[in-house]
Amino acid sequence: MPFSKLGLSNPIVTAVTEQGYTSPTPIQAKSIPVILSGRNLIAAAQTGTGKTASFVLPILQLLSQSQTQRKKRIRALILTPTRELAVQVEANIALYGKHLALTSMAMYGGVDAKPQRQRLLDGVDILVATPGRLLDMYTQRAIHFDELDILVLDEADRMLDMGFIEDIDKIMDKLPADRQSLLFSATLSHQVKALAKTAIDKPVEISV
Ligand code: AMP
Repeated sequence: MPFSKLGLSNPIVTAVTEQGYTSPTPIQAKSIPVILSGRNLIAAAQTGTGKTASFVLPILQLLSQSQTQRKKRIRALILTPTRELAVQVEANIALYGKHLALTSMAMYGGVDAKPQRQRLLDGVDILVATPGRLLDMYTQRAIHFDELDILVLDEADRMLDMGFIEDIDKIMDKLPADRQSLLFSATLSHQVKALAKTAIDKPVEISV
């Protein structure tokens, strides 16, 4: 099945074709139509299955189709357990979104917060962040969630293993209730399902 059959627009299909991808991976074929339809999702997929593109591509599509009320507000938030993953996911957003006019940024702790605050002020559509630094920025009022449409919890099992549950709960408390929520995890353990239950309303469940 070609990417174009999944309901993705030309600029996105062109970008993945330029990467040399000929067809979606199984997780992409299952997730992309669900996400494009606006539904919530929990998906079990290991790294290496193409899971990043399975949420990045439809998010790019949804955001490029819709208008925002207030400029310079975060519209999609992707939480990752580590700085390395945040950087990697943001690089994928830039790559797959290169024919679109959306902006993205990776934000993580352990580095000076000032340049990150400036970038947020300049305006970021898609923010990829580790939980601790995100909460710091929120507390400093450097970030606002009033235009947030989509939340992704990436590698949710690793975030729980690393003890981020309290931070994640605090963050989710501050997000609009009418958002679309997506959770990706290598395994859908009991703990992951418990998190999904509190965070995600009536999700479609997918595994590959
Ligand atoms: P991920 O599971 O997101 O870490 O992706 C694993 C690797 O698969 C990455 O290097 C991607 O560039 C690559 N990839 C993602 N989707 C596809 C696809 N549809 N066809 C071929 N390679 C892909």
